[in-house]
Amino acid sequence: MVADKTGTLYIVATPIGNLGDLSPRAQEILHQVNLIAAEDTRHSAGLLRHFGITTAMISLHEYNEKQQVEALITRCKAGVSIALISDAGTPLISDPGYRMVRQGRQAGIPIVPIPGPCAAVTALSVAGLPSDRFVFEGFLPVKANARYARLHQLADENRTLIFYEAPRRLLESMQAMVEIFGPEREGVIARELTKFYEAVHTGGLATLLTWVEQSPESDRGELVLLIHGADKKQDFIKQEALKVLAPLLKILPLKQAVAVAVEITGFKRNDLYQLALRL
Ligand code: SAM
Repeated sequence: MVADKTGTLYIVATPIGNLGDLSPRAQEILHQVNLIAAEDTRHSAGLLRHFGITTAMISLHEYNEKQQVEALITRCKAGVSIALISDAGTPLISDPGYRMVRQGRQAGIPIVPIPGPCAAVTALSVAGLPSDRFVFEGFLPVKANARYARLHQLADENRTLIFYEAPRRLLESMQAMVEIFGPEREGVIARELTKFYEAVHTGGLATLLTWVEQSPESDRGELVLLIHGADKKQDFIKQEALKVLAPLLKILPLKQAVAVAVEITGFKRNDLYQLALRL
């Protein structure tokens, strides 16, 4: 194909659950482009069908990105406009597309963002954690040793931490976080955002861990895990609470020990109760 005009590469965000979140502009671009490069063409076929979009699709995923990029750039240079989409949310955010954008820029192809949903930002917007500064960590390493090492590196980070996590690994990650960040550190589990079973659980990490252990739904669906940044002063105060609670538990029944510790420290009853259960 010979063309006097280079095609444009559009980076198009798609819904993270609720199809109503595909913006009118995204719909227009997906209709107009010559080709849609999708992470999983079968998955995206449902989305396109819903909006009556019949544009041809090609797959561009983690495993073929290296090979596909050159061919796609050549086509773009020949005048073909391409929209890049992933299975959900914003491409490149824990999704393929980085190579395509980088090499596309190097090749002088116009690249246009069509912004929309992103699970990390959506979760942050409702978490109630400091949002002026945050760190997006994506997925933690799968292997336990590497995961522990990563969490240790983040223990003193004072910005809000945002993780993506697979539900089947949530329990192990939460256990490691309670150990490394401390049972009192505030966290948020934002599940199934924009979907029917959307839920946002908040509390100290020990409280959240108990929820994970006791709730059958915790190993299903999609979730974002957010952790309050380290507050050295607060951590110190909470360590002091532990010092109060531990001896009280030796001489008083659990509920009374918690009540006295609440009086002394002023901390939330439920967080101290969860802490006491663990002690
Ligand atoms: N590119 C996507 C974005 O912009 O959010 C993220 C893709 S990443 C492969 C998928 C992860 O995002 C899931 O494992 C989960 O952690 C998070 N996620 C995606 N959709 C979600 C939703 N509806 N609710 C909560 N988390 C979600």
